[in-house]
Amino acid sequence: MFIGAMANKTYGSYDHEELIKRAKHCVCKRCGGPLTNSLIIYDIYGGVGEELYCPHCQKQEFGVEKEIYDMAEYYVENFQFNYFYDMEENDVNFELNVAKVADMMSWILKNLNLLDDNGLKDNKPDYEYYLRRRRKNK
Ligand SMILES: [Zn+2]
Repeated sequence: MFIGAMANKTYGSYDHEELIKRAKHCVCKRCGGPLTNSLIIYDIYGGVGEELYCPHCQKQEFGVEKEIYDMAEYYVENFQFNYFYDMEENDVNFELNVAKVADMMSWILKNLNLLDDNGLKDNKPDYEYYLRRRRKNK
């Protein structure tokens, strides 16, 4: 995989301007670091795309909202959350758990209509859909 400096063009499925905008309000969901736009060559046959990338983790990363990362980190640290129970408890395990919780928080906020492509919104949730789908006997 080759990572190069990004030219001002559109590659792959994401619009260049959308990725630039997203990189401004999102961070890496594993380390919390800033993201950059990078040109990624997927294969030797010319598959190429522009993706967000974490220089610290050296991996392709779509990112999460900074606020969500901070909350996820707090949650894992203070509630002893461990999704990867068969893994040794170390920094990698902690980062993976923060990423897992950040994904869950993002999913919840998105489905409560409190999060969209522009980041967190400031309006009341409409979660009637989930209230109707709760398990019976509640
Ligand atoms: Zn990272």
